[in-house]
Amino acid sequence: MIELVNIASGYDKEIINIDKMTFEKGMITSVIGKNGSGKTTLLKTAAGLLKSRGGSILTDGHELSSFKGKERAKRIAYLPQSLKELDMDVKTLVSHGRFPYSGKFGSLNEKDMDKITGAMEMAGVAAYADKKLKSLSGGERQRAYIAMIIAQDAEYMLFDEPCTYMDIKHRREFADIAETLKDMGKGVVLTLHDIPMSFDISDKIYVLKDGRVSAGGAPGELLKEKAALKDALDVTLKYAGKDDNRLYGYELCI
Ligand code: ADP
Repeated sequence: MIELVNIASGYDKEIINIDKMTFEKGMITSVIGKNGSGKTTLLKTAAGLLKSRGGSILTDGHELSSFKGKERAKRIAYLPQSLKELDMDVKTLVSHGRFPYSGKFGSLNEKDMDKITGAMEMAGVAAYADKKLKSLSGGERQRAYIAMIIAQDAEYMLFDEPCTYMDIKHRREFADIAETLKDMGKGVVLTLHDIPMSFDISDKIYVLKDGRVSAGGAPGELLKEKAALKDALDVTLKYAGKDDNRLYGYELCI
C-alpha cells in the first residue's frame, strides 16, 4: 500500500494538503477533480518527484524517500501528463522501462526482452515497434509510453491523464489494460478527466477540490455524496446500469 499522511506540497506556494490517502495493490484508484484542483501535483508528490513539507509517504510501510534510483523505480512507475517526442523508436522507448533491472552498461537479458515484447503487445503498439515516436499520433505516443510503464513492472503504477489523446476505442482498451494490471496485483493509480470512465473502472475514487480531498470511497458509495460531487465537479452522477448500448455504467447529471 502507498500511504500519504499529512502531505503538503506544491511549487512556490502550497497546492495540495492531504490528511490521509491510500493506494492499494490489486486495486484501481482514481483521483478526479476540476482543472487546477491539484491532481498532477498529488501524483508527482506520491511518485516522490515533488517533496512534501512534512508528513510521510510510505510504500508498504517504508518511507519512499529511503529508496533511490532503481530501487524506487521497482516500486513506483509514473507516467506524466506531457510526453516528450523523443527522437527514438517505440521499442527503444519501451526498453527504457527495464532500466531498474538492467545490468552494467544497460545490458538487457532474455527476460527483459520478453517483458518489452509483452508490454508492447498489451499496450497495442507492437505493430509499430520500429516507428519513431515523432511519427505517431498523440494517442499512439501515449500508448507507447504506457508500454514503457508496463515494462517497468513496478508494484505501483501512477498514470497522469493517460487517455487524453485517445479515441473511445483506445480509452476502452486502456480500461482493459488497467484491469489486467490490477489482476496482476499492481496498484494502479489514475487521474482522469473522464468522470464516468473513472467511476466505471475504479475500486476507489478520491475527489480533489482546491488541493484537498472533498470526498472519497468506492464509486457506489460516492454516488450518494451528491452535494460534495456537485461542489467539486459541478456535476453529479447516476448509475444507469451496464448495457451493450451504453459506453459506461454511469452517466453525468447537471
Ligand atoms: P490538475 O492536475 O488538477 O489540473 P495541477 O496539480 O496541475 O492541477 O495544478 C494545481 C495548481 O498548481 C494550479 O493552480 C497550477 O497553476 C499550479 N501549478 C501547477 N504546476 C506548477 C508549476 N510547475 N509551478 C507553479 N505552479 C504550478
